[in-house]
Amino acid sequence: MPEKIELIGLSKEELAEQITRLGEKSFRAKQLWQWLYFHGETDFEKMSSFSLDLRRKLAENFTIMRPKIVAEQLSQDKTRKWLLEFADGQRVEMVYIPEEDRGAVCISTQVGCAMGCKFCHTGSQKLTRNLSAGEIVSQFMVARDTYGEWPSPTNETRYLSNIVVMGMGEPLQNPENTIKALKILTDGDGIAISRRRVTMSTSGIAPRIVSTLKETGVRLAVSLHAPNNELRSMIMPINKRYPIEEVLSACQEYQGNDGSRYITFEYLLLDGINDSLAQAHQLIALMKKYKLRATFNLIPFNPWPGCDFRPSPTNKVTAFAKELENAGFAAPVRVARGQDILAACGQLKSKKEQ
Ligand code: SAH
Ligand code: SF4
Repeated sequence: MPEKIELIGLSKEELAEQITRLGEKSFRAKQLWQWLYFHGETDFEKMSSFSLDLRRKLAENFTIMRPKIVAEQLSQDKTRKWLLEFADGQRVEMVYIPEEDRGAVCISTQVGCAMGCKFCHTGSQKLTRNLSAGEIVSQFMVARDTYGEWPSPTNETRYLSNIVVMGMGEPLQNPENTIKALKILTDGDGIAISRRRVTMSTSGIAPRIVSTLKETGVRLAVSLHAPNNELRSMIMPINKRYPIEEVLSACQEYQGNDGSRYITFEYLLLDGINDSLAQAHQLIALMKKYKLRATFNLIPFNPWPGCDFRPSPTNKVTAFAKELENAGFAAPVRVARGQDILAACGQLKSKKEQ
C-alpha cells in the first residue's frame, strides 16, 4: 500500500491532479476543496455529496491533518493560547487575541528561527525546521475547530476575522510554503479570510518583500526596532545582510502609488537602547526620506529569562509615541494581552520541556 497523501496544504491545482489521478472528474476536486476548507470536514465518511465508493477511495488514498492540541489556556481577558504538535513531535504555539467584534489568530511559519534577534525568545532557539504549507494552514484550522467557525462564516459574523503571521519564525525564510499557505487561507471558495485582514510580519528579507506581497496580496508589517544601521545590526543581525536602506527601498517599491497600502512598522521599545526622542526623530526622518505611508506599532518588550533588555518605562513610551504622532504617524502602543497565560506573539515557545 503506497503512503497516503496529505491533502491540507495542496494548492487547488495539486488537489485537482490528485483527483484526476484517481480517475475522477475535476469538479470533484472543487467539491473536495469545499469540504476541506469551507466546511472544515476532517472525516471522508461525512462528505455527503460523494458516493460511498468515492468516500472509501479518498480515505484509502488521503489524509486530512490537524496538529494535535497538547495544551490550551484561556486568559481572563479571553486571549487563548494553544500548544500544537505536528506529526514529527515538533511544537509551536498559537494565540488568539480577541477585540470588540473581531479577533486575530497569530500563526507560525517555522519551528525556531535562524535570524537570532537579540530580544526574541524564538531567535534564541535556532531554527529546527520550516513548516510545510499544510502545517501553516492547519494551525488556523485548529482555531476554527475550537471556536466552531465552520462552515466559513461571513465577514460580519466571524470572531476569527484576522490572521497575523507573527508567531515563530521568519516567513520570508520559508517563502514558498508561506505563500502557498496564504493563498489557501485567503481563497474565496474555502477559508476565505480577506487579504486585507492578513498581515505578514518580516524582519526585513529585502529581496523577497515585493514579490511575496504581490503574489499574496496580504498586508505588510516590518520589524524595524531601530532607526539606524549601527543599532539595528546590533539587535537584529539580519540587518548586516539587508540594511535599513534596502528594506525601506523595498517598502517604497511595494507601496508605489497605491494610497491604500499602508505599512506597519513594528518598533519594540527597549529601555535606554532605542527609546530616546532623538531616535524618534531619526525614525521620522527615515519615513520622510523614503516617502512611506506608515503606521507604527509600538510594542512593549516582553522580558524572558536570559535576556538582559528591559521594557521602556511608560513615560518614555508615551513621549516616543507623541513624537511620532506629532509628525503625522499613527503610533498606537500595543496593549499587553493574556498576561496571565504569557500569551504574546514574538515570544512563543517550542521546546517540549517548557
Ligand atoms: N519573524 C517575523 C515575525 C515573527 S516575530 C518578524 O520578526 O517580524 C513577531 C513580532 O514580535 C516581531 O515584530 C518581533 O520583533 C516581535 N518580538 C520578538 N520578541 C519579542 C519580545 N520579547 N517582546 C515583544 N515583541 C517581540
Ligand atoms: Fe526570528 Fe522574528 Fe524572532 Fe527575529 S523577531 S528571531 S526574525 S522570529
